[in-house]
Amino acid sequence: MGGGWPAVFGREAPLHVELGIGKGSFISALAAREPAVNFVGIEAQREVLYQAAKKVAAQEAAQEAANVRLLHFDAAGIDTIFAPGEIGRLYINFCDPWPKNKHAKRRLTGGRFLAKYRTIMAPGGALYFKTDNAALFEFSLEEFAASGLAVRDVTFDLPAGGEGDVMTEYEARFRALGMKIHRCEAVFL
Ligand code: SAH
Repeated sequence: MGGGWPAVFGREAPLHVELGIGKGSFISALAAREPAVNFVGIEAQREVLYQAAKKVAAQEAAQEAANVRLLHFDAAGIDTIFAPGEIGRLYINFCDPWPKNKHAKRRLTGGRFLAKYRTIMAPGGALYFKTDNAALFEFSLEEFAASGLAVRDVTFDLPAGGEGDVMTEYEARFRALGMKIHRCEAVFL
């Protein structure tokens, strides 16, 4: 399944995907910064997706660019809408930690999800992950290792405003509370 994305965008370009985009600050800023990349944003909650769509539309009108598509969709089905090897980069920012063990399967950085991502990631493509939640971060690092991903650039205290990074809505909130932001990249070999 999948693989129709160049037709949707009207061009062949690297494809980067964000899961759980919230109100869309991150994807709209990143897409403006990287006009040569096609971006797909996936969000399960209709209300926040609507906010994101307005943000992206305003951004694209200002720039006369159209390199973002947003989907109201559950990330659990991600392997059904992209072709093998199609995604160059996957972003997950401040996903729900699901702290109870019985809900661990729902964490977007868990093994079950990683197995799905693997089927659609380009070899050498990476998952870019940020969270405030230390327990989720530790869990995720273990899951990345157990799933054979190579983890790089791990930090437990990401400085604000780093080059090449864009702050998300949740991140701004957590930073205002003085919380540390954890970040890493996990490469699908
Ligand atoms: N990335 C944003 C929002 C983080 S909150 C930020 O950093 O500000 C997590 C978001 O992920 C919520 O908007 C929630 O609706 C969405 N989400 C959670 N599970 C999801 C799933 N299975 N598929 C798609 N979106 C999901």
